Amino acid sequence: MNLKLFNTLTKTKEDFNPINHKSIKMYACGPTLYNNPHIGNFRPIIVFDILFRILQLKFGKGNVTYVRNITDIDDKIINKANELKISTKKLVEQTQKIYHEDLKSLSILEPTHEPKATEYISKMIDMITSLIQKEYAYFSSNHVLFESKKFKNYGALSKFSLKDIISGARVEVAEYKKNPEDFVLWKPSKDNEPYWESPWGKGRPGWHIECSAMIAELLGPTIDIHAGGLDLIFPHHENEIAQSCCYHDQNMANYWLHNGFINFEGEKMSKSLGNITIMNDLLNLHNPISIKYAILTTHYRQPIDFSNDLLKYSSNIVSKWRDFIKKATNNHLDQDFLKALEDDLNTPQALMRLQQIFNDLKKAPEDIELSNYFNNGLSLLGLVPHFQKIELSLDNDDIENMIARRADAKSNKNFELADQIREELLQNGIILEDTKSGTKWKKT
Ligand SMILES: [Zn+2]
Repeated sequence: MNLKLFNTLTKTKEDFNPINHKSIKMYACGPTLYNNPHIGNFRPIIVFDILFRILQLKFGKGNVTYVRNITDIDDKIINKANELKISTKKLVEQTQKIYHEDLKSLSILEPTHEPKATEYISKMIDMITSLIQKEYAYFSSNHVLFESKKFKNYGALSKFSLKDIISGARVEVAEYKKNPEDFVLWKPSKDNEPYWESPWGKGRPGWHIECSAMIAELLGPTIDIHAGGLDLIFPHHENEIAQSCCYHDQNMANYWLHNGFINFEGEKMSKSLGNITIMNDLLNLHNPISIKYAILTTHYRQPIDFSNDLLKYSSNIVSKWRDFIKKATNNHLDQDFLKALEDDLNTPQALMRLQQIFNDLKKAPEDIELSNYFNNGLSLLGLVPHFQKIELSLDNDDIENMIARRADAKSNKNFELADQIREELLQNGIILEDTKSGTKWKKT
């Protein structure tokens, strides 16, 4: 079966036809690291990680390039850094460390590239210069703005007309703008803000241009899939399209995928409600696979009602798998399971099929094919539990990694986690010994 994906651009489920079968290009907007990422930041990461796995399965591992960026400069980062009296660089370093630990705990594959916005300032300046030359953008009071009405397809993704945008007050009115719907490409930095030299004075980029620049540099003018959260459709993705299409004179992305929101205990997750759930806190309380399972019980385009009950339900199911998790002896996949995932990543359906396979496997634990279906299914969903890797293939690198994670946990005074790691290693026959020259290990 062909992979089918719901394309926000056409509002239909379409067969996925890549530009080049030997070079699939996919981009997802990553988090802004002003704070330890919350579960809402991880939903797109988890679901688009599964898409990355499916694309690798269908087109070959070496034929898929996946870029997921990190936003390391924006108002929220600057405000938080000022509040903490540290540099934005330091703040991003701190949050990135936690973010990467979380990704690892959640068994998320590393994307091909993980660029940071500030590493691409010169490309952004190059693009803005070209947009001014082509008269899509203009300079006004130390700002450079994109003149939205000059791009004839503006609003094609969000289905907003310029009139909707202005009357719905979806844009900020400012005296340096020719039109209220114009958006910032470059702005002056205030005294206490980081800045870069540019043809328009010392300043910093607007948010939207960073993704356009990273895509242009790492993937090229037109990509296959661009993904992100529903809240990014307007203005972020609309503006990305305008900038990139006008710069390259080419279409930006053929398939636009958007994941739904997360509601927590029935309420929309927003900072004002004080119910932001930091992933790192959740991971200290719950098995990462239960958290992932909970997220995958809902189709990615639908809103999720995330609750403690859902987590309990998920951990109940996941805990039953433990004794049946084995290294697969071939790469066979159950066809109904795969069909569900190929149907616009229907994870609830795929989990149901996996449960049926699991029920059959429980009745016939010696059935190797069922065991392979079950374990390869878990693997494709990224539900390879932490304990599986440890139990089945603990090599020297794994052990060293765990020792490093334990040292980090100790230096962060997270002694519970440090003890947990020591315990996990012990269960796998590894004894740690803390010495003056560091932690040593040996087999029991
Ligand atoms: Zn973006």
